[in-house]
Amino acid sequence: MVKQTIQIFARVKPTVRKQQQGIYSIDEDEKLTPNLEIILPRDLADGFVNNKRESYKFKFQKIFDQGASQETIFENIAKPVAESVLAGYNGTIFAYGQTGSGKTFTITGGAERYSDRGIIPRTLSYIFEQLQKDSSTIHTTHISYLEIYNECGYDLLDPRHEASSLEDLPKVTILEDPDQNIHLKNLSLHQAATEEEALNLLFLGDTNRMIAETPMNQASTRSHCIFTIHLSSKEPGSATVRHAKLHLVDLAGSERVAKTGVGGQLLTEAKYINLSLHYLEQVIIALSEKHRAHIPYRNSMMTSVLRDSLGGNCMTTMIATLSLEKRNIDESISTCRFAQRVALIKNEAVLNEEIDPRLMIIRLQKEIQELKDELAIFTGEQRTEALSDAELLQLEKLITSFLDDQDPESRLEVGTDMRKIHHCFHHLKKLLNDKKIHGKSTVSCEIKDQDCQEPLKEEEYKKLRDILQQRDNEINILVNMLKKEKKKAQDALHLSSMDRSECRHSQSLPFPPGNPEGLRTLPSSAPKQIQDVSTFGYRSSLLHRKTGILFWKFFILEEVSGFHIIVSTTGMREEMSLGRQEAFEIFKRDHADSVTIEDNKQILKQRFSEAKALGESINETRSKIGRLKEEITQRHMQQVALGVSENIAMPSMPDLLEEKLRSQLEEEKRRYKTMFTHLKALKVEIEHLQLLMDKAKMKLQKEFEAWWTEEATSLQVNSPAVNSLSHVKPFPQTPEFQQETSQPLFNKSNVNARKILPSPSPIPHSQEHNSTSASLESSVPERPASSVPLTGDSQTDSDILAFIKARQSILQKKWPHGLEKPLGGPSGVCLLASTVPAAGELCSPNK
Ligand code: ADP
Ligand code: MG
Repeated sequence: MVKQTIQIFARVKPTVRKQQQGIYSIDEDEKLTPNLEIILPRDLADGFVNNKRESYKFKFQKIFDQGASQETIFENIAKPVAESVLAGYNGTIFAYGQTGSGKTFTITGGAERYSDRGIIPRTLSYIFEQLQKDSSTIHTTHISYLEIYNECGYDLLDPRHEASSLEDLPKVTILEDPDQNIHLKNLSLHQAATEEEALNLLFLGDTNRMIAETPMNQASTRSHCIFTIHLSSKEPGSATVRHAKLHLVDLAGSERVAKTGVGGQLLTEAKYINLSLHYLEQVIIALSEKHRAHIPYRNSMMTSVLRDSLGGNCMTTMIATLSLEKRNIDESISTCRFAQRVALIKNEAVLNEEIDPRLMIIRLQKEIQELKDELAIFTGEQRTEALSDAELLQLEKLITSFLDDQDPESRLEVGTDMRKIHHCFHHLKKLLNDKKIHGKSTVSCEIKDQDCQEPLKEEEYKKLRDILQQRDNEINILVNMLKKEKKKAQDALHLSSMDRSECRHSQSLPFPPGNPEGLRTLPSSAPKQIQDVSTFGYRSSLLHRKTGILFWKFFILEEVSGFHIIVSTTGMREEMSLGRQEAFEIFKRDHADSVTIEDNKQILKQRFSEAKALGESINETRSKIGRLKEEITQRHMQQVALGVSENIAMPSMPDLLEEKLRSQLEEEKRRYKTMFTHLKALKVEIEHLQLLMDKAKMKLQKEFEAWWTEEATSLQVNSPAVNSLSHVKPFPQTPEFQQETSQPLFNKSNVNARKILPSPSPIPHSQEHNSTSASLESSVPERPASSVPLTGDSQTDSDILAFIKARQSILQKKWPHGLEKPLGGPSGVCLLASTVPAAGELCSPNK
């Protein structure tokens, strides 16, 4: 049993503004415990938080300042927890802090760079790496991903997510057994045999979470997410199984409701989070007080689920995420206070071992049989029914092995069943009789044979002795050869088994020659229920990847230096009207994320060519190894043949050429291993980048849909207003929004802003305004609605109108900046334009 208080760490998020420095400082006290001092600026000190104090000091296990990398966080915080999970103890890491302070960044990671991946992907990578190294135990890994929102639990890996909305899915509920163990009903467990399978599950859950979220319902800041890795391990032949769980928890934003002051639904939600975090606080207060008998775990779902993590059988770690800016000082102080209380909680982690029930049953059945037999002897009750065929066979086997056993002490154990004992005697008697008859006949035959033989002549005798001598020599040579060959065969076997195991890995690699589609490995164990085709390409890709069927409809293949890369398109293109497609292309081009997508695509291409080159070198090395082995065998054969033909014993001197070949072989094998490890790391990076890209594209699509629907609805509602295109809502571009606000999004105006402005920000235009642009701007035509021929079909009409409006606003925005792309575009543009004369001019702005 390991007794340990909850470990607390602090992580300070990088600040946008430099002048924020001076608000806090980090130092160490005499015992080398790090201290975080938060200093209240003078203007805030009056009447704020506590006007008597100007600075607050908090102790942490370690404090990670702004520059700390994700790698450092993993190494210091998550790796020790992962290690204890591998040793069979439960572990929990939870991030606590206000919205925008970096909880998700720390737990899951940033969406842009591979180096930004957070604790979950790094821990998965580490765990699978360790499991692979340990071949002495049998492991199984399962993943679950739970979201708790408004006190309801949702399974983020439920395959039905695709077909139904969040509200329609069965809720995850808590069941408590008589031993007060918590069980979660409706939470699916998915086996993950490899790191990729586990990562796919993480991304699937994140995507499901993103899809369930609407701009009005930014659940991510108000929900708790618990990603759990369930590990079990067993030594072969042993009946004991070890289970350990690792919860990686991204809590809801810890900001207080009083500060937000909003009404309606938002208030309900805000109250709920606070309620849930409030109960967490209550549990923590209760646990940190000595002699408290009752701990109110049952008050909320989250505290029930994390019951073991808080004061129970678990090694728990908390990361306090802080966004130390002036406006966040009060929230930061309350986060630190919370952490100080958490640090008082003592946990007791025990090894979770249990006996495998199946092996237990077999053991018990045997014991029962033995007891029955014994009982029969004591009670004198004889069993009369005949032995079954299986029992007879079993007995005969026992007798045979008893007779074959050379050990004079060996015993024939048949238990206490008299029927079996009798049968054994019968059988032995029969064998003995058989042998007697057979033995007699052979003896008489031998005698007869000897009788008819004549004595050997001296000459013949000598001749035979010489032949015998010669044969002996031959046999010796052959035995030597045989020994050598056997050793060689063993070496080759060893090598080939090594090759095979490496080969097995390389087959799951993205780029074995001739298997380009191996790119994305398909988790074999995932549920197979999914049939529905999602509207979103990404989801299809993920889910179909899960079902083991790659769904090509939403994919295009891109050739990158001879390798096929599967690139999911941004989906729905086939179902989009042309106007919508055009608007989407522009939306995509101007979306801030498209830069990231492009960047990642470039990196991905680079990695692919690296991987390709590496793959080629690996193949070369592999064939070189093959050639060397062949040469060594040849050389060996030659030597042996030489020895035999010249009738000399094998030279005891080592063969220099062979030794040289062997050292070359070793060298090539080392190279092979190094390259192979490198390729494996590249593969993980590629997988991750692909998932990041898919996610970014999904987000883009989703934001476009939201914006488009908004535009179309407002157009449909105010049809007459269409002719006044000056009222067109701006194309969603808000550079400010891209900046992390760190403010809770509870503010209603903020949320509305989110609704209209789906976060893209423009690619900075460096070009200056010039006179031509001004005149062009004025030439952008404004057309009354009457000149637009509408079809009468409301959906099509709204598409047409929305298209014109979108185009109009884009033109107004784009042209002044230097005319990089007046309006060529796909042919679809002109097609539409020709059916809409008013927009025809838009096709050739120089008119
Ligand atoms: P939370 O989950 O606490 O609401 P996020 O993790 O979403 O906060 O972080 C808010 C923003 O700040 C994100 O854009 C994230 O990428 C960024 N961010 C947070 N922590 C860091 C960090 N340590 N380094 C760089 N960017 C960070
Ligand atoms: Mg978050």
